[in-house]
Amino acid sequence: MTARRAILIELPKDRCDVDYIRRLMALTNLAYRDYETWVPDLPKTIQRHLHGFKNFMESLVFGTEPKRWFAETWVPLKTLRVYQDGSMKGDKSAPVVLDFKNSVIKIRQVCRSVSGFVVELPMPRWVVERVNEGGDVRFAMIGLKNDKPYLTLVAEREVESRDPSGYILAIDVNAWSNGVAYGIINPNNRIAEYSPLRPNLRLIDTWYHKAEKLSKELGKLKRLGLGQTPEAERLKREINILRRKTYAYLRDFAQKRAHELAMKAIRLRTLVVIDDMIEESRRELLEMKLPSGLRKLYLAYARRFVKLLVTQLEWYGIPYKFERLPSTVCPVCKHELIYLPGRVMICPNCGFKAPRDKVPILWVVNLKYK
Ligand SMILES: [Zn+2]
Repeated sequence: MTARRAILIELPKDRCDVDYIRRLMALTNLAYRDYETWVPDLPKTIQRHLHGFKNFMESLVFGTEPKRWFAETWVPLKTLRVYQDGSMKGDKSAPVVLDFKNSVIKIRQVCRSVSGFVVELPMPRWVVERVNEGGDVRFAMIGLKNDKPYLTLVAEREVESRDPSGYILAIDVNAWSNGVAYGIINPNNRIAEYSPLRPNLRLIDTWYHKAEKLSKELGKLKRLGLGQTPEAERLKREINILRRKTYAYLRDFAQKRAHELAMKAIRLRTLVVIDDMIEESRRELLEMKLPSGLRKLYLAYARRFVKLLVTQLEWYGIPYKFERLPSTVCPVCKHELIYLPGRVMICPNCGFKAPRDKVPILWVVNLKYK
């Protein structure tokens, strides 16, 4: 099986012609639709590139067909890899050169329509790590996100599934507002380790409500026709900073926790069982009466977490499956559980009692995956 991982790198704006990149994206969109894209004023290598990339289209993670006309389509690019010992792999005329000898990435001709124009970037550690793990970066993409130029590198690797050791890592992504709960079940079917992983909710809550309050103030100013005043500009800036901080915090949390769990799975050669019942999460968040903006944010990052986790599990060849692990049904007798204060669940039928977050893990114990 081919596993893929990707990284997004922001390009220096002063070295890139955003309009040129936008034009390349539009031409890519046309090429996807089988239109001829020969235009006289583009460098020949880029022309050929746009024309020929269909041959490797399906190799790209992001290279799915654009759904509508003029949808933003990233420009797929081939790469040339130059290794420490001087050996090379790939197309010599490729627009992206990964130079491991000098630890730089060179982007040729796609940042600006000037013959021989090169943008050089430091080689990200991410690329070196993926290559050391046996991966190869055969493709890259360039495109705009919120009008800012980015390069995406796609690492590929052939993986063979490892034989699980009898350990199971159960992961419950029940509601992001309560974080992620995981448990490690040993071959004797005992819980060897169990822990909920929670983001700092109070922090997110504070930032979110502060941003909401400032938005209301800004709205008032706008209605009074004062939307362009220095005071309004100051509010806009502050709101942006708060939002960015919130996203950065949640993104970081998702990334770090996904990585941590993947590393645990590698160390113990576990099978991973994931319950990502986003529907139940949504309901739970509704019951908590969270503001809808915050609810959406939590769900978005819960999804992101699952995606990051699965990508890493595939990359390292760790077997995984999705399984429904209901936290409101008794894992012993399947009777409906009752909520006690303090997130404890109890079964009125058989007397089973456990913390809410532990119930899904106990489901895995009782199902006895082997
Ligand atoms: Zn029961």
